[in-house]
Amino acid sequence: MERERLLLASYAMFSRQSVGRRYEEPAHPYRGPFQRDRDRVLHSAAFRRLSGKMQVFTGSMGDYHRTRLTHTHEVTMIARTVGRALRLNEDLIEALALLHDIGHPPYGHSGEAALHACLAEHGGFSHNTFALTLAEELETRYTQYAGLNLTEEVLSGQRFRVTHAGQTPLLEVQVVDLADSMAYNAHDVDDALMLGLLSIRQLDQLALVRRSRQWSATHHVVASPQAVRQLLVHSLIDVQVANLLEHSEDLLSEVSGLDCTAVQQVGTTLGFSPLVADERRELEQFLFDNVYRHPKLVEVRGRAADRLRQLFDRLTDRPQLLPERFQNRVNRYGVERVTGEYLAGLTDKACDALFTQIIELGGSDVPQW
Ligand code: MG
Repeated sequence: MERERLLLASYAMFSRQSVGRRYEEPAHPYRGPFQRDRDRVLHSAAFRRLSGKMQVFTGSMGDYHRTRLTHTHEVTMIARTVGRALRLNEDLIEALALLHDIGHPPYGHSGEAALHACLAEHGGFSHNTFALTLAEELETRYTQYAGLNLTEEVLSGQRFRVTHAGQTPLLEVQVVDLADSMAYNAHDVDDALMLGLLSIRQLDQLALVRRSRQWSATHHVVASPQAVRQLLVHSLIDVQVANLLEHSEDLLSEVSGLDCTAVQQVGTTLGFSPLVADERRELEQFLFDNVYRHPKLVEVRGRAADRLRQLFDRLTDRPQLLPERFQNRVNRYGVERVTGEYLAGLTDKACDALFTQIIELGGSDVPQW
């Protein structure tokens, strides 16, 4: 707490201001509450499974591109850099960033869309909501109660990701959200170039890419195409972070001296300059049209979504196949939701194995989690 008092800005979320946890716990001798949250997320099974979950590109497309886990680390790194520069609470930021994608189902966004369709009459499926279900109910520790017993600040930050409504979130929550998009804007460009789905020439149409290439041209001499790609990704992150910091420092100078609650009431919203915000939208739209809807990806993802649908139908017909801890939830939540939860927790490979086992072989051996 002394360290926070010396280092953080007035509008940061200080550990001493934490509302606390659902189940009260004594203070830890050398870790603050948000450090403990970070450790709980890092030690959760759902977090480890991120290594087996695709981000945009599947495991069949090589091993260069990001997985959900490496994406999470990139988000965490960018968010902590921004948080430190703005003198926000880096421990809270780290916990929020490590948590932000643990609810992703297998097979990326097509997996999510497939589960959402399966659960259309049962509340739908959202990875942001499922992250909360994992953190509050499905993850187990050595304690008497279900869930990770995270602080209210981390849980409400994740809740904001679900609704994007209500009170302006803490600045730490905003930073993680912005870092998420800065990370994927840059790494999806890198991965798509490496996979040959895009060319530098195509990307040069985009204002943010031109800005990034000019930015880097002043610092480096680049020869090989590989170095061009790497430098572009580095500059895309640098340009976005630098712009965010510059724009946000101006905004924050207007609220200096206020505490985090007052800043939420004022509604301070961090962001980019209007020009760079437009350029980011242009890049995101370009990625959407040319990468996420690329025929190669559409085909692979169509197959993945089809597998999830078949698995959902089989398991809702025969819920006795589900692991016991899921069967125990059926009375309370209904077989559809519980089946969705079970499938959402699987890695891509575990989901493939389950498909082989119960659909292709007609067996009953299902992975536990
Ligand atoms: Mg993310």
